[in-house]
Amino acid sequence: MPNIGVLAIQGDFLEHKQVLEQLDVKVPEIRLPGELDGIDGLIIPGGESTTIVQLIDIYGFRPVLADKVKSGMPVWGTCAGMIAIANNLTDKRPEPLHLMDIEVSRNAFGRQADSFEEDLDVEDIEGPPFHAVFIRAPVVNSMGEGVKTLAKLRDGRPVAVRQGAMLATSFHPELTTDYRIHDLFKRIVENSA
Ligand code: GLN
Repeated sequence: MPNIGVLAIQGDFLEHKQVLEQLDVKVPEIRLPGELDGIDGLIIPGGESTTIVQLIDIYGFRPVLADKVKSGMPVWGTCAGMIAIANNLTDKRPEPLHLMDIEVSRNAFGRQADSFEEDLDVEDIEGPPFHAVFIRAPVVNSMGEGVKTLAKLRDGRPVAVRQGAMLATSFHPELTTDYRIHDLFKRIVENSA
């Protein structure tokens, strides 16, 4: 059974945990850097990226996460988690973790479209379009050559990307009953074990 941790310092980590448990994954809640040692992959959930990154630094996660990712640990960031793992942000805050070769804009949809839903064709998963829930969501502005777009909005902006064993999604698959992206991440973790 794979062991996929959820970073449990702020945000909707419990929803990710509930989905992964349905998929027969063991899901430790990670609150201290030393707890990263026992896991095969990590999810950084949605929430408030400035708070999440602030707590990451207070608890000393930053250098440990960088090491783990360098040695191949799969990481998936959803929404605020995508912001946290980016290389660059168009905003001044927070200072991202520089783990994935993407530049991200926070709150890219402004007030009018604070939250919305859209059906997306997602590469690397089978079946019908994925019903994606966006909440004060970021988008990917640009990405390096090693990053592949898995899904984009009708206007062409990327909202799901993959770089090797790393995933980032602007939307919240953990808030739906469609487990296909969690299952994709589980397979990434199994294949990199
Ligand atoms: N807008 C939030 C941020 O900038 C992210 C929102 C979310 O995770 N749903 O951190």
